[in-house]
Amino acid sequence: MVKFSALSLFAKALGHHKAWPEQWPDAAPKKSYDVIIVGAGGHGLGAAYYLAKKHGITNVAVIEKGWLGGGNTGRNTTIIRSNYLYDESAHLYDHSVKLWDGLSQDLNYNVMYSKRGVLMLAHNVHDVQSFKRHIHANRLNGVDNEWLTPEEAKEYCPPLSIDPAARYPVLGAALQRRGGTARHDSVAWGYARAAAALGVDIIQNCAVTGIRRGADGAVQGVETQRGFIGAKKIGVSAAGNSSLIMKMAGLDFPLESYPLQALVSEPVKPVFPCVVMSNTVHAYMSQSDKGELVIGAGTDQYVSYSQRGASHIIEHNIAAICEIFPIFRRMRMLRSWAGTVDVTPDRSAILGKTPVKGLYVNCGWGTGGFKATPGAADLLAWTIAKDEPHRINAPFTLERFRNGRLIDEAAAAAVAH
Ligand SMILES: Cc1cc2nc3c(=O)[nH]c(=O)nc-3n(C[C@H](O)[C@H](O)[C@H](O)COP(=O)(O)OP(=O)(O)OC[C@H]3O[C@@H](n4cnc5c(N)ncnc54)[C@H](O)[C@@H]3O)c2cc1C
Repeated sequence: MVKFSALSLFAKALGHHKAWPEQWPDAAPKKSYDVIIVGAGGHGLGAAYYLAKKHGITNVAVIEKGWLGGGNTGRNTTIIRSNYLYDESAHLYDHSVKLWDGLSQDLNYNVMYSKRGVLMLAHNVHDVQSFKRHIHANRLNGVDNEWLTPEEAKEYCPPLSIDPAARYPVLGAALQRRGGTARHDSVAWGYARAAAALGVDIIQNCAVTGIRRGADGAVQGVETQRGFIGAKKIGVSAAGNSSLIMKMAGLDFPLESYPLQALVSEPVKPVFPCVVMSNTVHAYMSQSDKGELVIGAGTDQYVSYSQRGASHIIEHNIAAICEIFPIFRRMRMLRSWAGTVDVTPDRSAILGKTPVKGLYVNCGWGTGGFKATPGAADLLAWTIAKDEPHRINAPFTLERFRNGRLIDEAAAAAVAH
């Protein structure tokens, strides 16, 4: 693997950048592996990387039905933060934010993690009380989060309207300064490149169609479009398709899959310095390095596997953006798209072992799993390697929906971007 450095960039520039080698090979499936990961999004590729790097398990394949990073990883609005209410969530997401910090150096690939701050707007008394509760709870967990007055919020984000007569008045905001964004494609590519360099096979255009189990019930491998591939351990990181894959192993998972949309504007000069989220009206915005305003909406109300959402959702979304940022009213939108998100009843992930021996799962991240990519990948790798969960993901079991030990971020935040 070519190590990226100022010197290697300069040397390749002299040759008009024609001599860059392939960044990772497109592998053909072997007969069997020690571990198979289903799904080449950031979570799956990351898990393969950490299995190889931290646990010395390199006989690993990542199997992807389409192209790597073509799922939610390549479709999301890339908001990163860890100011969740419950202890379990704060520990999990903050584990991830700490890994984001050194990820570019670790992978020798610029994932463009930008700590520009995430501002969450309070539009009513309930929001104010709820965000202040979050701030206090976060501080007890050592997670940064602070309260800003409307004037301080405006100073942090000048395009924000704090007109008290506005349709959605701003009564204050919670700010996590370590929050921000990263470049989604780079995350998938960086993990793919680093994992492949450690010996991981990345197999694209190869949908998993079945999970084969032996007489003892343990997994034996996966049926795919390119034939059977054996493995004693299988990790599933398939986001919106997770319940379908669990069904292949005879398991019913408490997941619903919804379309979730995003859209971008025409590019403009840098005008928007941070990330702003308005949970109450379901509107989120940041500015990409290309200059586009990146705007996220809420999920559709109906379940579907189609990767396109309803137009009334983005109409409402844009109406809210225009109210909160009147300065952008005359901007034109460039394109919109959707992904399929997997939502659990308490809006928290399921990350750990399953009732089937050798089958591990990482799903239920819904609308907010990009920020969790390094953390979830690291913890999935740990769980697979040790055959037991790490203490951080131990509460995120499937059993909680039976024993009632929910991690109810749905009620806490109303939304989980
Ligand atoms: C519009 C939108 C905006 C979002 N915004 C944010 C945000 O701002 N912040 C945030 O934290 N999160 C956000 N999310 C959520 C986030 O994108 C996801 O939680 C996260 O990217 C999931 O990563 P993953 O690697 O698990 O899934 P994916 O990237 O979806 O990877 C799963 C892979 O599994 C593959 N697969 C599925 N079935 C099979 C099969 N049978 N065989 C083989 N492969 C299969 C898929 O093709 C896919 O590539 C957003 C999501 C969307 C759609």
